[in-house]
Amino acid sequence: MKKIIVAGNWKMNKTYLEAKQFIAQMNQKSSFGTEVILGVPALYSDTLYANNQKENVHIALQNCSDQSEGAFTGEISARMIASLAVKYCIVGHSERRTIYGETDDLVNAKVKQLLDSNVRPIFCLGETLSERELDQTFSIVERQLTLGLQDLSNEDVSNIVIAYEPVWAIGTGITASKEQAEEVHAFTANYLKEKYGSPLASTIPILYGGSCNEKNALELFSQPNIWGGLIGGASLQFEVFENIIDIAEKLNNGR
Ligand code: PEP
Repeated sequence: MKKIIVAGNWKMNKTYLEAKQFIAQMNQKSSFGTEVILGVPALYSDTLYANNQKENVHIALQNCSDQSEGAFTGEISARMIASLAVKYCIVGHSERRTIYGETDDLVNAKVKQLLDSNVRPIFCLGETLSERELDQTFSIVERQLTLGLQDLSNEDVSNIVIAYEPVWAIGTGITASKEQAEEVHAFTANYLKEKYGSPLASTIPILYGGSCNEKNALELFSQPNIWGGLIGGASLQFEVFENIIDIAEKLNNGR
């Protein structure tokens, strides 16, 4: 049975005080059972982790190094992340792939680093607009899955969260329709089933990301293979993000 997960990605936004204020507001929220993950700036993660009072709200990082330790100035290792008791880290986000030139192999190295340190990767993938227009969506997603998850054990794969984020929908205000999103989610779920077997595949959450907001969350999260959202812009303002959590909570409670 899928449980809807609501994940936020703050990207390079919020000052220290603004970030603490957001967590304070979350702490005030009446109790809910939905799992919430917040991808915060690394610099604040320890404080936000310490300030968070909600058991089902998890602090996540947005990136990590592909190396384990050593002379890599400015980098943050998976082991460092794990030492803060942070349980999740976003990898393979399209902004990292396009702006910083991250390849599938580099993303795969990061995924492995995280899993070796018991941090769950939120592994992002998705096609660009031109790839979609050339009818390459499925082949791109398949390539990203195959290379991004290469050489992982079944146990490793069972600790991954996937986020399908069509690049053309990220930060553009253009959301994939529920049909467009569901079709790629179903394809991804089927890929996982064929590769790792049904029992394992049926436990891997596949989130949707790309201009997901309080207006479209309900129809997206109601699709059979959409397990919730990875939310950028709409995760920055507490009241908006809270509305999305409330939508997920209702669905999780069968309402
Ligand atoms: C993201 O950054 O992962 C994202 C989905 O952004 P937005 O919701 O702003 O499109």
